[in-house]
Amino acid sequence: MGHNGIDFGMLWSVPNGRKLTVHAPHDGVCYLGDQKNKGYGRYVRITSLPVNRSGHQRQSDLAHLEGYYIKHNQFVHAGEPIGYIQKGKTNGFSTGTHLHWTYKPLLNSVPIFENNGYNGAIDVSKDTLIWTTNTLA
Ligand SMILES: [Zn+2]
Repeated sequence: MGHNGIDFGMLWSVPNGRKLTVHAPHDGVCYLGDQKNKGYGRYVRITSLPVNRSGHQRQSDLAHLEGYYIKHNQFVHAGEPIGYIQKGKTNGFSTGTHLHWTYKPLLNSVPIFENNGYNGAIDVSKDTLIWTTNTLA
């Protein structure tokens, strides 16, 4: 199974139980999903309104969340808190506490490609001092 996305872990020194807020990388409507103990586990999929009449949209999956700060079908703006991960906890197919972010530009609702991070998006990990980018599941 491939890995399409970027993983944000917590620095080693972060104490157990510490929560880190996850921020929306772009505007959009939130779909709250739970793949129960596999794949993404608890996740938020944010789908933007059409960017323009060309049919382009932005979509992000933010996975392995411990909890949500938003509701299903809620519209969020870039930078708003959407949920959190918590040191010592994880869910889905994951090797340890981290946030998984997959960004997918859409054309007519179909992903054009999936990539590792998105130039120009709001940083999803604003507490940068205690985040680290790792290769995790
Ligand atoms: Zn990942």
